Amino acid sequence: MMSDKIEIIGLSKKELEDILSQMGEKKFRAKQIWQWLYFRGVQNFDEMTNLSKDLRATLKNHFILNRPKIIAEQISKDKTHKWLLEFSDGERVETVYIPEADRGAVCISTQVGCAMGCKFCHTGTQTLTRNLTAGEIVSQFMVARDSYHEWPSPTDETRYLSNIVIMGMGEPLQNKENVIKALNILSDGDGIAISRRRITMSTCGIVPEINDVLEKTGVRLAISLHAPNNTIRNTLMPINKVYSIEKILEACQKYQSKDGSRYVTFEYLMLDKINDSVQQAQELVSLLKKYKIRATFNLIPFNPWEGSAFKPSTHEAIKSFANILQKAGFACPVRVARGQDISAACGQLKSKTIS
Ligand code: SF4
Repeated sequence: MMSDKIEIIGLSKKELEDILSQMGEKKFRAKQIWQWLYFRGVQNFDEMTNLSKDLRATLKNHFILNRPKIIAEQISKDKTHKWLLEFSDGERVETVYIPEADRGAVCISTQVGCAMGCKFCHTGTQTLTRNLTAGEIVSQFMVARDSYHEWPSPTDETRYLSNIVIMGMGEPLQNKENVIKALNILSDGDGIAISRRRITMSTCGIVPEINDVLEKTGVRLAISLHAPNNTIRNTLMPINKVYSIEKILEACQKYQSKDGSRYVTFEYLMLDKINDSVQQAQELVSLLKKYKIRATFNLIPFNPWEGSAFKPSTHEAIKSFANILQKAGFACPVRVARGQDISAACGQLKSKTIS
C-alpha cells in the first residue's frame, strides 16, 4: 500500500506553513522546523528538541524525512568526491563535490538520465527516465554536507561546500518548476543559505526558459556552448537545431541588460580537432564581440569515457585557444581534468553500477 505521508524535504516555506496551519499549528512552528531541517540538517523529528513530544509525533505521522541512500562513494586522488545516490523508487543519480584551493562546488543532478543527447556526454547515452523532485535536488546537497559535517550551516568563508553548480545529470530547464523550487530552498537565508551569487545554473540552451528561471531565482547563468558556430554545434548538440547559438546569445543579452554586473560563463569542452583550433577561437571572439556579451570561459579538458568518439585536445591546443580568448579580454581559466581516476565524467559511475 502506498504511504500517504508527504516528503518534507522539498516543500517550500509557504507549503510547510500552510500544511502546519491546516494541522492547527502556529506559523512560527514552520520556521522552527525549517531551521532544524535546513540549518541544522537533522535527520529525524526526535532531534527537534524545541518542539513538544506531541508535535514531533504528529510530524512523524504526516511527513517522511529521508536522505537518498548512498549506493557508491568514491574520492579521487585530487579529492574530487562522487556519490551515487538512490531515491525511494530505486532511481539513481550522481552528485560530485569538486574542491578548489579556496572553495568547493557541489555539482547537482536534476534528472534521471537526459533527453538532450549531447554527443560528448556520457549521461547523453542514457535515456531520460524522469525528472527529480525539488526535494531530490536539494537532498543531494544535504548528503554532501552530511559527509563534510557542515551542519549547522556555516556562516564564514572557510566552509568546504561554498558553491553549487546545477550541471550534473540532466538539463535543468527541462525540469523548470522543480529546479526553481529547489534553488529557492538552497539559497534561503534561514536554512542552507548558499548565496545566490554562488549558485550557477548551466544549460545547453533551452532559450525560452532561461530568463524566467534566472529572474525567479537570482542565480548565475552558464551556457554549455562547446562550439564557435552552428555547423559544429549541430553535430555535437542536437538541441542547437531548435535553439541556435544566435538565439542563445540573444537570451544572454537580455539577461545582462537587466544588470550591468552580470557575466555569463561559457562552458567549452576542448575536443581534439573538433572545436579547438586557433581559427575557431577567433571565430568565438568575433561572435561574442558582435553580441557584446560580458563573458568568462571555462575551457574544460575532455575526460574520455569508454565508447566516446572524441579525444581530449592537446595541452598546446588548449593553451593557444585560451591565449586568444584572454587577449580579447575574456577571463579564461583552464580547468584541470578532475577526478579522472574515479570516472568523473558525468554519468559514468551510474553506468558502471548498472552494467
Ligand atoms: S551535457 Fe547536459 S544536456 Fe547534454 S546530454 Fe549531458 S546532461 Fe544532458
